[in-house]
Amino acid sequence: MKTFQFGESDVSRGNLILVNPSHPLPDKRKMDRLTFLESSFFCNGLFVSDGEKICATAESDRAGSVAMESQAAEMLLKVMMQLNAGDKILPVSGYRTLQEQQTIYADSLRENGAEYTGKYVAVPGCSEHQTGLAIDLAENREEIDFICPDFPDAGICRQFRQLSTAYGFIERYPAGREQITQIACEPWHFRYVGYPHSEIIKEMNDTLEEYIQYLKCFCPDHPLGYQCGRYAYEIFHVPVPQDPGQKAVAEIPDQVSCQVSGNNEDGVVITLQRNVL
Ligand SMILES: [Zn+2]
Repeated sequence: MKTFQFGESDVSRGNLILVNPSHPLPDKRKMDRLTFLESSFFCNGLFVSDGEKICATAESDRAGSVAMESQAAEMLLKVMMQLNAGDKILPVSGYRTLQEQQTIYADSLRENGAEYTGKYVAVPGCSEHQTGLAIDLAENREEIDFICPDFPDAGICRQFRQLSTAYGFIERYPAGREQITQIACEPWHFRYVGYPHSEIIKEMNDTLEEYIQYLKCFCPDHPLGYQCGRYAYEIFHVPVPQDPGQKAVAEIPDQVSCQVSGNNEDGVVITLQRNVL
């Protein structure tokens, strides 16, 4: 067994963090590495990044680029390559700094009014785009709306929706769940949560809000089990003390691959993966 310790800062890091109007991102949170998705390469049917850069990159270097946290970008690339969708689907908006979200919010308020902005633009500090794990996608058309791009449930967009679950993405703001997500239906907004969480969320027809609550029913002695192909997963929640001086402790078996993510609420989610063949 290996012993892991988790502190307050671990709660706001990882692929499963919940970010919404009641779960803002902490100011001091550090961004993971970013990968830039160069739109110009989409025209050639190739979806590539210009390598990994860190968040400290000068603003001017990032002008016009759409970026995502590196692992999420890598998975998006795989979906796009498999669908050969490079010239049919465009990335519209990915990672945003707090300042960029403030600008988008203020511009939308001025141009579209408070009702529209309240429905489609998250309050600065509470946007999933600030995590680097969210991406807005558009079907490639002559005119693309920056805030509400078209991403219909047909053709290549439907294929993206179906395949991207296997690569860790969920459609984050589905129709009929606005009371829970506190954001209007946004068929263009995808969120990377990692596999197998994406698959379980889809099978349960959950929102991320509901899934994060559901996982609190599971502990190391009574984990959520999920099997797919040659892998068996065990998923459980570990509460983390709010006191910065205290740590939560978890024992992880040897020779098992393990992913850890905070939930941006009160703890971390541990996902163990075993090879069953
Ligand atoms: Zn979005």
